[in-house]
Amino acid sequence: MSDGREELEARAKEDDIEFFFAMFVDMHGKPCAKLVPSSAMDVLMGGAGFAGFAAGPMGQSPADPDLIAVPDPRSYTKVPWQDGLAVVHCDVAVDGELWPYSPRVILQRQLERLEAGLTFNVGVEAEYFLVRRRDGGGIELADPLDTAAAPCYDAKGLSRMYDHLTTVSRYMNQLGWTNYANDHEDANGQFEQNFKYADALTTADRLIFFRYMVHTLAHRAGMAATFMPKPFANLTGNGLHMHSSLWSDGDNMFDAGAHDDPTGLGLSSLGTQFMAGVIDHARALVAVTCPIVNSYKRMGVGAPNSGATWAPAYATYGGNNRTQMIRVPEGGRFEFRGADGAANPYLAMTALLAAGLDGVERKLDPGPPNRDNLYTLPAAEIAARGITSMPPTLLHAVDHLATDNVLRAALGRTPHGDYIDYYVQTKRDEFAAYHSVVSAWEVDRYLTLF
Ligand code: GLU
Ligand code: MG
Repeated sequence: MSDGREELEARAKEDDIEFFFAMFVDMHGKPCAKLVPSSAMDVLMGGAGFAGFAAGPMGQSPADPDLIAVPDPRSYTKVPWQDGLAVVHCDVAVDGELWPYSPRVILQRQLERLEAGLTFNVGVEAEYFLVRRRDGGGIELADPLDTAAAPCYDAKGLSRMYDHLTTVSRYMNQLGWTNYANDHEDANGQFEQNFKYADALTTADRLIFFRYMVHTLAHRAGMAATFMPKPFANLTGNGLHMHSSLWSDGDNMFDAGAHDDPTGLGLSSLGTQFMAGVIDHARALVAVTCPIVNSYKRMGVGAPNSGATWAPAYATYGGNNRTQMIRVPEGGRFEFRGADGAANPYLAMTALLAAGLDGVERKLDPGPPNRDNLYTLPAAEIAARGITSMPPTLLHAVDHLATDNVLRAALGRTPHGDYIDYYVQTKRDEFAAYHSVVSAWEVDRYLTLF
């Protein structure tokens, strides 16, 4: 079987590529890369070597053999702002075997479980802020004029960031991603730039490149971009809405036919059961899709300055209703709003697909759509209806994840046990590190209280 080398070489020649970034991500979704000249094609194709312990949580100690980043030629991406440079996303191997701690490998193994001929298509909406670091510490908005009380869709705010936004848009289109909208989001300094859905692996690779691109371009313009879920306590956070559908031979299997619309929202029985699986696993799933301490400051009912968080507080679904964890804006797909800007897309899509397929396997019924404004529905009513709340912290979420056997199987086995146990331990350690810091809030509140 061809390893795609000839095709990669041909594309590199056509684009005058002098250097490649051989790129992979760790558990956190941090892009790691080595710069390999195109004259060293044998080294690139054989796989660039990395010390795994140094890269991030990759299941390695300092004593372990190299991670070998083996390029996937299909992921070739010419870097639009840097002549002569291309990125190739890599699968990680160790001692000649694919490494089960590599998020890109984990996603592909989950995709292989799909029935032959089915494609999992995903579209993501990556929200981010443009900020600057303050000299004395802390951050401020990159645009000091972005102070409106209701800044969403603000044309003037969009105009002041015109150069940045249009550059990103142009580059997305040069890459063939089909950018279809760019807007000022609900928080001051917050933007969203959309590209068309594709199969899960392609979208995950694109999201990694998109974040890297936005960071790089913002930095070049003297700003910093942040995808962190809640950079400002008083403003709406950064979501990563994920639109899902299963396709077979060009047919969208989530599209309700004339007689197959159980919820009346245009979602087929297959799509409805899949969605029910996502709801059923929601509290464990968010440990993967909202993966950091800060994630849980974005979710909930407490309104920021603009009046709404637009982030889920409960594991529910509805029609075109943004107070639900799942919104079905029109037929044929659903929008999962329980993911944020910190999500590792490979792991998030693995978990989302596994949860959905479990719903299909068990033919789960999500019940009727929720039509309420869940930000204002009284707590007693929420309880009476048996509506499930999202976990209040990362620690609560990983406790749910640790006991979820479907997600356990989906995240796979490593030479040292299930990946999920490694993930859970990494996240518990992260929470403990956060919790060990005495915050300004505590000092203000408690210093002289007693
Ligand atoms: N920023 C919101 C969130 O944290 C989403 C806003 C929107 O609906 O686009 O999920
Ligand atoms: Mg948005």
